[in-house]
Amino acid sequence: MPDKPKFYQDYNELVELMKKSDHMYNYELIDKAYQFAEKMHGDQRRASGIPYILHPTTVACILCELGMDSESIAAALLHDVVEDTPVTLEEVTKKFGSEIAILIDGVTKLGKIPYSSREEQQAENIRKMLIAMSNDIRVIIIKLADRLHNMRTIECMKEQHRRDKALEVMEVYAPIAHRLGIRAIKEELEDLSIRYLDPVGYSEIERQLALRSKDRQNFVSDMKQQLYERLKGEIPNVYIEGRVKSIHGIYKKTFMKGRTMDQIYDIFAVRVIVDSVADCYNVLGVVHDIFRPLPNRFKDYISTPKPNMYQSLHTTVIGKEGIPFEIQIRTWEMHYTAEYGIAAHWKYKEGITKKNSLDERLVWIRKMLENQSDNDSTDIVRTIKMDLVPEEVFVFTPKGDVLSLPMGATVIDVAYAIHSEVGNRMIGAKVDQRIVPIDYKVKTGEIVEILTTKESGGPKRDWLNIVRTSEARSKIRLWFKKEKRDENIVEGKAQLEAELKRLNISVPEKEIPEFLADVIHKQNCNTIDDFYASIGYGGIQLWRILPKIKEEYFKKYSADEPVQMIVTKEPVPKKKVSNGVIIEGLDDCLVKYSRCCNPLPGDDIIGFVTRGYGVSIHKRGCTNVPKDIKTCEEPERWVKAEWTENIVNENFKATLCITAADRTGLLADITNQLFAMHLFIHNLNSREGKNGTAIVEVSLTINGINHLKSVISRLSGINGIISIGRN
Ligand code: MN
Repeated sequence: MPDKPKFYQDYNELVELMKKSDHMYNYELIDKAYQFAEKMHGDQRRASGIPYILHPTTVACILCELGMDSESIAAALLHDVVEDTPVTLEEVTKKFGSEIAILIDGVTKLGKIPYSSREEQQAENIRKMLIAMSNDIRVIIIKLADRLHNMRTIECMKEQHRRDKALEVMEVYAPIAHRLGIRAIKEELEDLSIRYLDPVGYSEIERQLALRSKDRQNFVSDMKQQLYERLKGEIPNVYIEGRVKSIHGIYKKTFMKGRTMDQIYDIFAVRVIVDSVADCYNVLGVVHDIFRPLPNRFKDYISTPKPNMYQSLHTTVIGKEGIPFEIQIRTWEMHYTAEYGIAAHWKYKEGITKKNSLDERLVWIRKMLENQSDNDSTDIVRTIKMDLVPEEVFVFTPKGDVLSLPMGATVIDVAYAIHSEVGNRMIGAKVDQRIVPIDYKVKTGEIVEILTTKESGGPKRDWLNIVRTSEARSKIRLWFKKEKRDENIVEGKAQLEAELKRLNISVPEKEIPEFLADVIHKQNCNTIDDFYASIGYGGIQLWRILPKIKEEYFKKYSADEPVQMIVTKEPVPKKKVSNGVIIEGLDDCLVKYSRCCNPLPGDDIIGFVTRGYGVSIHKRGCTNVPKDIKTCEEPERWVKAEWTENIVNENFKATLCITAADRTGLLADITNQLFAMHLFIHNLNSREGKNGTAIVEVSLTINGINHLKSVISRLSGINGIISIGRN
């Protein structure tokens, strides 16, 4: 082979990398994959003129460096054969088995997703869809490596192509790498993108970094030395390294946040890696002993990991000559996670038996997700959760727009999500070019084309029972309300008459307007026809007004007659246990604990019937609960709720607000106490209060009011605590 071009690695290098790693690679499989890919790509060349096979080989090298498994490496070698050579997926399956074929198929499909950066929402949907579409997270990691290599070699492409790809990487792929915690790939992708999106800004930062690099490096090695001297006697196995911030990271702070290079404290940082979590806090103590910490710069990502699992302690201190710099403290395990994110799972979890490995991966990801704080809805938590518990589907319009719909949505929902007019004129739908029935439930990745005609008679009433989204339902109702008044009046009148008959209520026809006058008025209708029309299109639900009508009837017509037992469609009050809470009158309903007040077992509570998401439980005193239920809007939606005696679900959350006299070590004392009580910390914030106080807000997993009381009493023992309240 001629001289290896820059940015390309050949098969010998892959073999070297595999030998160096501590994985037991399946060389036979990987060799077979390489031979096959090389033969099939033949004399195909990349746009730069370089033999094609070097691209998949380099992608395999990137994955090997991430520590990915044999299957991922084989799939990387083969990732372009189905797309770019005559080989079919069936052949690959026969030759290499279904596991590898599924990986290749996933990578191929992801490559075909159209991308348009029209708006942030679109990019977000594409990110979510990419993750949802790859049932195996390795597909995404292979795709990221593929993208990374394409970006490294994009120089030979046309300017416009480079910019388009750079923008796509910046908006879609780098955020995915970030969410999966793969720092190395994320930073290189971002740096490469910035280089093509803003070449001038990029080279300016490069120049500035080069100018300062000598001074800074001397400074950093001084600091390292100083730290090492103090730490080596006190803490075993201390490892200290310097690290440089990525160009994109500096770019964000200078060009986007308007800081000068001297105002960025973490361009160069010192990183201390130790064996245990306890040692991390000990190192922090020593660091704060040697250097003066800058206020408000301490971040404890150990007790509160970032959503992508990142853990470390960060503090900024004043070093020699008054120059501030950042120190990061972490264990080796945290270090691997910070560098490799999800990929660390393959790199450092050896000895997983083949059969269970996939399940274990899912358990592991699920565990990681459960440990996330749920206040950042845009982050990895939700996106990967869909991978495990699908709750959203993503479909394309023929123009390539991505629509996000709830699981179970039909083609009618898609039509109304596009536009009311599309829904109202719909006569059918095609999914992936095939005509489908009107109640077809769409799946992620499908291209949905809605067939319309101007002469369609509008939506059908039974669509109301087919659609899944409230958006479609209300748009259909609105159409009936506007377009079909006469029909609605007839329909509404018929419905009401049928109900009255069933209830044995008979009122002479001409007396009906008079009889119903109060009810009509209360429903904000001007005439009885308006009233019938509302019933007809579903704006008024009969079961809600029937009790009132019954009451009127007995008042006006049958005061002397004995009251009959009448069975209605109203819910029958009944007590039933749901997830730790008893709700009066509702069976087996979905219960969720509201985030505004985080009720705990033992609190006085009340339920609110939400539209479509079950009953949400609030504390009686929550600001979102009306003071007087009887006079509030929609009093019928507030229901009685009480705790059951033994609660299985222990995942309750409470937020404490701690006020204390500010002093060094306060935060560490608090986190140490929480740590000692084995409490999971969802979130921890601190700020300066008045008159030399500090206010610390911490959200914890708590299993009841008594548990909370004991936590508060233990925290109260910390030196300087003034008060602890619950938010
Ligand atoms: Mn490729």
